[in-house]
Amino acid sequence: MNNKEELKERFPKMYADVVAGVYHPAGWNELVAELSAVLNTVCPKIRVIQTKEKFATLRFYVSNASALAMNVIEMYEFKSGFVCEDCGKPGRLYETTFGHRIHTLCCKCARQRGLKRVR
Ligand SMILES: [Zn+2]
Repeated sequence: MNNKEELKERFPKMYADVVAGVYHPAGWNELVAELSAVLNTVCPKIRVIQTKEKFATLRFYVSNASALAMNVIEMYEFKSGFVCEDCGKPGRLYETTFGHRIHTLCCKCARQRGLKRVR
């Protein structure tokens, strides 16, 4: 079972009409599951539209969100900037040598991808 199916099974209403896809990197699976569990408690009417990575952090697009839910999402998007996209271990910012792509990675995964540290 992949993460999308897992999320749909655990939070059927929240992930009932994901129109733009669950595309966040595998290293953030736990983070997204935790975020979904919190949202399920604080804002049961919330619906996920899309999850993905952009500029090395999580983007979690929703509808029907309360102000509290938006604050929670913002906190987890910030937190994703310190979690490796590939394996979920503590990460920091790395960039590609060409093309100016940035990623949040642990040192081991960054080495495997051949990226250099930004901060
Ligand atoms: Zn890693």
